[in-house]
Amino acid sequence: MATRGQILKLGILGGTFNPTHIGHLIAAEEVYWSHRLSMVLFIPSYLPPHKGSKNLAEARHRYEMVRLAIKGNKHFAVSDTEITRKEKSYTIETVELLLRQYGGTCDLHLIIGADTVQELPSWKEIGRLASLCRIVVVNRPGAGLEGFSQLIPVLGKEKVEEMQRMSVQIPPVGISSTEIRARLREGRQIKYLVPDAVEKYILKKGLYRDVQSNAPT
Ligand code: ATP
Ligand code: MG
Repeated sequence: MATRGQILKLGILGGTFNPTHIGHLIAAEEVYWSHRLSMVLFIPSYLPPHKGSKNLAEARHRYEMVRLAIKGNKHFAVSDTEITRKEKSYTIETVELLLRQYGGTCDLHLIIGADTVQELPSWKEIGRLASLCRIVVVNRPGAGLEGFSQLIPVLGKEKVEEMQRMSVQIPPVGISSTEIRARLREGRQIKYLVPDAVEKYILKKGLYRDVQSNAPT
């Protein structure tokens, strides 16, 4: 945390974390070191605006899996701010809340995978969001760089150039939560794709064994 007079360089990694996997952890760790951040805050969403709740584990499970995944890493933390709002989770609202909490001493770095770049134009108040934080993109297998040019009319050339400059090259991780859920439905193993504690939690609670349509609580 920042002490008096210091700027807190806060990384934020939002997502459904359904479940958390090593791609999330590697992305956050690489950006932490690359941009010399103070810490990275993982923020599980309650209801993601762009995904349905089909196959979405309950919010408390997803929160717990993030907590278990980051345990022992002193510069990672998890926030329940979106989960406790119990509404659709819009990043602009979370960012405004964080800025109110930390005041003007906070330099927010929103971390996203390259697949998310193409979704940004449809995000709520994306122009204002982009003016309130830096956006740090990490590479992800299967996601190219096309998204950046589509962003120019939305965010302007200067902001997109800043995003390109700030982007961080990570060891490519071809893992997604979608694939992990599919493996679990098929009864296949997920060892090493998620931290051990997350694997244990999934198996203990019997998560993702069937197609679920439960509302997140
Ligand atoms: P799903 O398949 O359910 O969409 P996911 O693996 O994409 O899950 P999310 O919780 O949607 O995980 O991702 C949260 C953020 O982390 C997004 O910005 C996403 O682009 C990024 N991310 C997730 N997995 C990776 C990965 N393997 N490499 C780089 N970025 C990733
Ligand atoms: Mg995703």
